[in-house]
Amino acid sequence: MPDVIVIGGGVQGCALAYYLRAEGRAVTVLERRGVGDAGSGRNTGGVRQQGRVRPEIPLAMEALELWPHLDAELAAPTEYTRRGNLLIGGSDEQLARIENRLARQEGFDLDSRIVERRELEQLLPIVGPTAKAALYCPHDGHANPLLSTLAFAGAARRRGAEILEGTPATGLERIAYGWRVPTPRGTLEAEVVVNMAGSGAVEVCNWAGFSLPILNARVQTMVTEPLPPLFDQFVQDWDHKTFTRQTVSGNLLYGDLTEDYVRSGNEVFGADAVRASRKAIAAFPIFADLTVIRAWGGVLDVSIDQMPIIGETPGLPGLFVAAGSSGHGFGLAPAVARRMARWIASGQRPDVLEPFGMERFSATGTVDNIDDGTAT
Ligand SMILES: Cc1cc2nc3c(=O)[nH]c(=O)nc-3n(C[C@H](O)[C@H](O)[C@H](O)COP(=O)(O)OP(=O)(O)OC[C@H]3O[C@@H](n4cnc5c(N)ncnc54)[C@H](O)[C@@H]3O)c2cc1C
Repeated sequence: MPDVIVIGGGVQGCALAYYLRAEGRAVTVLERRGVGDAGSGRNTGGVRQQGRVRPEIPLAMEALELWPHLDAELAAPTEYTRRGNLLIGGSDEQLARIENRLARQEGFDLDSRIVERRELEQLLPIVGPTAKAALYCPHDGHANPLLSTLAFAGAARRRGAEILEGTPATGLERIAYGWRVPTPRGTLEAEVVVNMAGSGAVEVCNWAGFSLPILNARVQTMVTEPLPPLFDQFVQDWDHKTFTRQTVSGNLLYGDLTEDYVRSGNEVFGADAVRASRKAIAAFPIFADLTVIRAWGGVLDVSIDQMPIIGETPGLPGLFVAAGSSGHGFGLAPAVARRMARWIASGQRPDVLEPFGMERFSATGTVDNIDDGTAT
């Protein structure tokens, strides 16, 4: 039997397995479908420090220290590139929001600044007419989410972790020394269970009688034909609520920053493609002439204060959660997983994870992180 059962074979679950093996823990990951099948294989790959709520910044900075070394360490490509992040605004409202994001980074040693239109045009030749300024962090970047998840899974397996695909956890029961997890392939027991089930995390905690304040939301991503290199950064335009980046293969990914909390599945809808394309064209006119070759839906697990939920479940020792990443979980994953592995091995919660504990939702906790109603 393993020391630790991880429910969910997304980037967080696979990275945790990798780091837990370094701590000498026997670990089994249960994945109901395939590794990276959910958000971790469907996200846009942004790896950024800027624009985050203050408690996330130290974690994001820590993750940025790990990302450049992952290809070599995991012996597999992640397509990580560190060429900048741009958060663009044109209206008074969004320019004020950019100023606010800059102010909230004060005190951190973060290379993030506001660039005006002229510099923005040089950085991002595809920029459209409405953009006036952007928050720019040259040291942020992006990676291929599916390849990164598979890289962690492969390296975890080589270190001796067991990752069982096509194996859902179907329940969770407290036993004398830990937890019992039934699956269609048999029942497992371990002292520690980590719920990293993404959009399935609420169901997993419900089995233990614990309610996670998370909602699932859908975002659809479109992929264009490959083009010669046009720009380097991960880009969001806040007026038009759209995002884009160019992959290593030259394709442009784009999508709508407005989450759909009603239809939360992986389907592709024509109406969503039209709405997202209109927004993308308004922000970056080049999209009007590009061919879309592929699209996919993806589900974000969004917590009620739009910050990740990371911690040991109050009153249920040995049941850990890392979910509700609210659209931020891919970039943070290496740091979150490494810190959680250390926590599980040492029994000591690291300070950097303290703000993400579930006690913030209790009657005496404070929920004050929502500043502008967006999870991005
Ligand atoms: C369109 C989109 C764009 C995004 N863009 C970014 C971005 O640019 N940057 C960023 O940092 N983040 C981004 N995100 C968020 C990011 O994808 C997630 O935060 C991250 O992938 C979470 O990883 P995870 O391992 O926690 O969860 P997931 O990838 O959701 O993995 C959870 C896994 O658990 C499995 N599972 C569920 N229930 C069970 C069960 N009962 N038994 C066994 N397995 C189970 C699922 O099959 C799934 O594979 C985006 C998300 C989407 C959808």
